[in-house]
Amino acid sequence: MGIITIAFDDGYKDTFKHCAELLTENGIPATFAIPSSYIGKTLENRDVISEEDVKYLVNNGHEIAAHSLTHRNMLDVFNSEGEKAVKSEMKRSKDILKEKFGGRIESFVFPFIKNNQTSSLRTLASEYYTSSRISTESFAFNELPVKDPYSITGTCITTDIPMAEYEKLIEIVSKKDLWLIEVFHLVSDKNTKSAHRDAPYRFFTHIDEFKKHISYIKSTGIPTLTQRQVITRQNL
Ligand SMILES: [Zn+2]
Repeated sequence: MGIITIAFDDGYKDTFKHCAELLTENGIPATFAIPSSYIGKTLENRDVISEEDVKYLVNNGHEIAAHSLTHRNMLDVFNSEGEKAVKSEMKRSKDILKEKFGGRIESFVFPFIKNNQTSSLRTLASEYYTSSRISTESFAFNELPVKDPYSITGTCITTDIPMAEYEKLIEIVSKKDLWLIEVFHLVSDKNTKSAHRDAPYRFFTHIDEFKKHISYIKSTGIPTLTQRQVITRQNL
């Protein structure tokens, strides 16, 4: 059977505009990882969703996950400022989301891809969250039931992945009863450049391809759940 989680990191407004309603209409709850201090501001030259947008997500059954406070690499923070600074990032990012939007903030998503966490950082996450996730650029599946909820891995899905390859991934998920977390960043009708780089953004998915993914998932009948739902269901 398998499970698919649709996840978005960074809370870009463009992504919200293109995907939020589409997912709601299709009855697919998604996990939005939002860096708490960037709500209503810009991150990497891109607008981040407003408080009102977050409320829309909460009211429509989507999950809000913490993605740190300042969107820095937590391993860098740990090495330069120590454990206390990481704990503060983890705790405050959750507190702000809970205070502003209520609901259950139970999942943590580590910012950045490479060298961004260690087992001691995952242990710190376990003080505040029921699970934590990292992301990779290669294909990664999680076994069901999940053995370590603090080592969940998401796969970054971009425009570079051909549809045929994507369909094969989903087949594996279904046949082997695995959990695939599809991680999207910028989903829009055009790519944009990040603040500190001149090349087009690597983690871009064209909205037309995103729509194809959604209809393919629906055609397979594989359950789509949020990160929190998968962990909660498992703990019942
Ligand atoms: Zn991020």
